[in-house]
Amino acid sequence: MTIISNCQKIESQIKDNLTAANRNSEELNCVAVTKQRTIEEMDALYRYGHRHFGENRPEGLLEKQAVFSQSDIKWHYIGSLQTRKVKQIINKIDYLHSLDRESLAKEIDKRAEKPVACFVQVNVSGETSKHGVSPSDLEKFIEQLSVYPNVLIIGLMTMAPIEATEGELHGYFKKLKDLQEKIAEKRWAYAPCTETSMGMSGDYPYAIQEGATFIRIGSAFFSE
Ligand SMILES: *Cc1c(COP(=O)(O)O)cnc(C)c1O
Repeated sequence: MTIISNCQKIESQIKDNLTAANRNSEELNCVAVTKQRTIEEMDALYRYGHRHFGENRPEGLLEKQAVFSQSDIKWHYIGSLQTRKVKQIINKIDYLHSLDRESLAKEIDKRAEKPVACFVQVNVSGETSKHGVSPSDLEKFIEQLSVYPNVLIIGLMTMAPIEATEGELHGYFKKLKDLQEKIAEKRWAYAPCTETSMGMSGDYPYAIQEGATFIRIGSAFFSE
């Protein structure tokens, strides 16, 4: 079956890149992105051994959760989230990868029953089409989140432009890692910021080489 052989290929790519970067496999989590994929496809990934799953729309998340009730699954919300939809999902996810504005943090704080592990999305490339806080505003942005006890900043997330060259990809991912370390050095209790969510099907090897702790892979699991 295609999904299984894709899983094997991705697994060995991940291993090779971790080894090349002198990194330990426990430092990396692979989020399987199942947006717009069927229950059967997600089931194949679960049976292969995947436990981190990502969705980018509330409807998709709820649909999958109605079928998969296994308590060992970690649910990631990876898409941009409208403030009015926060209440639908915020107590049903383990990680939010797309915190990009204060109004969203405020709504999460209000609706969440316990602290939510959030990544602040950073627009490292400066593309105008991309969501995310700009690197120059990042420190100030995170500083103002201290008043929201239910918003725990565990790390930073970015998406690289599709057309980026190898060299540019290394640059963008390194930049996110540097920003993450700079925030972590502040020792803000509400923002340990120890993680980086970066790397997708087309560019995850570079992200692993630059220190990603979460990669988010969708299409590579399903391609023929
Ligand atoms: C869809 C998506 C991914 C996965 O992308 P692929 O290229 O299919 O691996 C990762 N992150 C986010 C935010 C996405 O929306």
